[in-house]
Amino acid sequence: MEHSQSIIFVQFFCLIGTSCTIAWAIYAGVFKIAPNASWRFALANICTVSGVLLYTQRTDSISYLYWFIADMAVLLGFALVRWGCQHLFKQTTSYLFDLVLLASCALLMLLVPPSLDYAVYLVIVMSITAAILISLTGLDNAKASKKHMSMSNAILINVPFLIMGALFVIRAMALFYSPEDLANLSAADKLNSPMVMWSYIILLLLTNLVLYGNALTRLVFKVSRLVNKDHLTGLWNRHALLDKLDEVDALWQRNGSAYSLLVLDVDHFKQVNDTYGHMAGDAVLKHTAMLMQHSLRKIDFICRYGGEEFLIILPSTNHEEAMFVAKKIQSQINNTSVKWKHHEIAITLSIGTATCKNHISVEQLLQLADEAMYLAKNAGRNTICTKEPENLEFNSSKH
Ligand code: GH3
Ligand code: MG
Ligand code: MG
Repeated sequence: MEHSQSIIFVQFFCLIGTSCTIAWAIYAGVFKIAPNASWRFALANICTVSGVLLYTQRTDSISYLYWFIADMAVLLGFALVRWGCQHLFKQTTSYLFDLVLLASCALLMLLVPPSLDYAVYLVIVMSITAAILISLTGLDNAKASKKHMSMSNAILINVPFLIMGALFVIRAMALFYSPEDLANLSAADKLNSPMVMWSYIILLLLTNLVLYGNALTRLVFKVSRLVNKDHLTGLWNRHALLDKLDEVDALWQRNGSAYSLLVLDVDHFKQVNDTYGHMAGDAVLKHTAMLMQHSLRKIDFICRYGGEEFLIILPSTNHEEAMFVAKKIQSQINNTSVKWKHHEIAITLSIGTATCKNHISVEQLLQLADEAMYLAKNAGRNTICTKEPENLEFNSSKH
């Protein structure tokens, strides 16, 4: 390849790398979007560009800077991509494993003088380390993305990482069996091969694209969770309720697995606010939410229905079981109190229950549970009531 062409390739590579660095830095510093991950991605771009720039300075003589440091900079870039992704998806970080891997690679490289004479060996060691880092990143990401999408889509959006890992393995194998192709397969002999330069550019672009895709997936997931979650208690909010109710109702229609609703309202809550202040009221709501979360199953759905009113959907739960759950919550609430400054605030709940019935819509069932809760209020509070749809009878159970 012409020398001038080689310079244009390098300039193009640096332009992409620098633009991506700036974009990630803006993400992290200005918009504060996944800053831990975004800073690592920005650093990864800096490391890769620096490594490739050092590659361009290689001559026939021995140089630790243009061989050893350059390769380690690029590999550190790959490790930073992995660590960034782990931060992005809130996975456990693999610093120890990756640093041991990088150190082993460094030791193997330092066994020979860093020069063109040993380039085949050096490129093979570098390629295998890169392949391990990139493939593990792809696998980590696919595992994490699976929580937000189907398995096939999670693998699909991370396929570029797996392909890149495979390409590094293929390069190592090709060099092992055919060392004379060194100039065509690596940046060992300056950057004279268009194939190598193009693959570096595509690799950089593709990595950044996949990272943007992953960051976007995470962001969308976070926003959609925020839309459905109550800020104060961390419970689901009313927005998420109807979807969940439809889902549980459809399950009942399909396989006959009955479900029940509980509407729970904190008694005399206004007095708490008036006596101890709004912050104390908030503490009572958080305490109640936490207690319910701990005493219910994972499949139960707890939602902050209104100010001091909660709604619980109990899938696969008939009337008797719903009464049992309601009594359990009631006794747990009665047996605890909220410590506020030097005061102990006692809480009681009025609970209404309703169990699904034929010819009753989810909205009507909600209404029944709500009315049952008002029956509990009228029955003196700290009470559990049920409202039947047919004859509108109610039973009550005073604690
Ligand atoms: P009852 O036993 O009949 O349910 O009486 P109550 O005082 O609990 O009910 P009421 O509807 O009279 O008062 C509810 C109060 O809840 C009024 C409102 O200011 C307060 N509230 C609503 N949301 C919040 C919140 O997020 N934090 C706090 N601290 N108070 C809230
Ligand atoms: Mg109340
Ligand atoms: Mg209320």
